[in-house]
Amino acid sequence: LVVVSGVNKWYGEHHVLKDINTTVARGEVVVVIGPSGSGKSTLCRAINRLETVQEGEILIDGVKLPEEGADLAKLRSDVGMVFQSFNLFAHKTVLENVTLAPIKVRKMKKADAEARAMKLLQRVGVEAHAHKMPAQLSGGQQQRVAIARSLAMDPKLILLDEPTSALDPEMINEVLDVMIELAREGMTMIVVTHEMGFARKAANRVIFMAEGAIVEEAAPDEFFTNPRTERAQEFLSKIL
Ligand code: ATP
Ligand code: MG
Repeated sequence: LVVVSGVNKWYGEHHVLKDINTTVARGEVVVVIGPSGSGKSTLCRAINRLETVQEGEILIDGVKLPEEGADLAKLRSDVGMVFQSFNLFAHKTVLENVTLAPIKVRKMKKADAEARAMKLLQRVGVEAHAHKMPAQLSGGQQQRVAIARSLAMDPKLILLDEPTSALDPEMINEVLDVMIELAREGMTMIVVTHEMGFARKAANRVIFMAEGAIVEEAAPDEFFTNPRTERAQEFLSKIL
């Protein structure tokens, strides 16, 4: 579903993505870990076309960008994204947050979009809050709304960039549980997280990045019990 080949990116002199090659198959759950500044978010943003890269290409479902006539809005709606900081629209209700894109971009009828949104809110366990404003919800609830909102566009892939790292500890699990459930249902996911429990339970593969490069790529059990590189061993000794 996702093919990343020979991707290099620089910010000025700073080489932030170094010859990245990887693929993500349909239904696969990939966890990306690595030290701060290693390029995890930049890679996610490149996959979501929020950033351009100077070299290499990224294909989503066979479509690459920049490509003559490629529809950026359509491509983006194929990729759901959930960020670390809650990025719900503050002046819209929870329900409006989830129905906005389907109505505007997909031209869905309001009633249909709302019916669908209520199902999604139910799926993530916040349907009782549909008519509240985001600020009235806890961080964990807001993050679950953000997941429902990204699902509303029927994405082929969901990218989650440290979705639980801004949450109070007691709210982390309610969000991880929703993510584990999505993974079980076969959603293709790329998740930047240091929640090793999630990686062990739900990931098919772990990608370890350091200084802009993919240093190691392995099944979670293998990676956590037997990291091959010193760099990964050192990193794991700090977080486990
Ligand atoms: P963290 O774990 O802290 O979120 P990360 O692995 O997600 O880190 P990135 O945010 O991808 O790291 O950043 C990779 C490198 O690119 C960092 O050195 C960062 O300072 C740099 N960088 C990121 N965004 C920009 C930008 N817009 N302009 C210049 N440099 C940037
Ligand atoms: Mg980041």
